[in-house]
Amino acid sequence: MSRPPKCRRVEFLPELTYFKPAGVPMKDLAEVILSVEELEAIRLKDLMGLEQEECAVNMNVSRPTYHRILSAARAKVADALVNGKAIRVEGGNFQLAVRRYRCTGCGNEWEAPCKRGRNLGEIACPSCSCAEVRRINHDGTLFNCSRWRDGIEQGSCKE
Ligand SMILES: [Zn+2]
Repeated sequence: MSRPPKCRRVEFLPELTYFKPAGVPMKDLAEVILSVEELEAIRLKDLMGLEQEECAVNMNVSRPTYHRILSAARAKVADALVNGKAIRVEGGNFQLAVRRYRCTGCGNEWEAPCKRGRNLGEIACPSCSCAEVRRINHDGTLFNCSRWRDGIEQGSCKE
């Protein structure tokens, strides 16, 4: 028996999961199934504009694996647009990433899933409601990457 594929790390769970062409009755409609990690692959590369290497790291997969997921995702979206099919976002093999935060007011630390359109400025401490919040690593140090500096997101999320 082959081992199950490694879980892909996903930061975004869509609220809308069904897209259909206007004016086509449901019974005549063919659909393509886009997995949650395929949507994440498109989001990172084509919406956020990350380099392929960054996308692979983000999803915790190798670069060839990321490339395979992205190619499959793009082919499905193209099939839907060109051939007038509906897109259903469903299933897959992924783990939803959580982010860790610390309140600079009261020192409270907590974890929350990454959510669509939620910028750091909109997050308040669940304990004291203070908005002076920093994103931190699991060891408590301030989170840094190309988009975050010392726990503060640079620019805002476009989704
Ligand atoms: Zn607080």
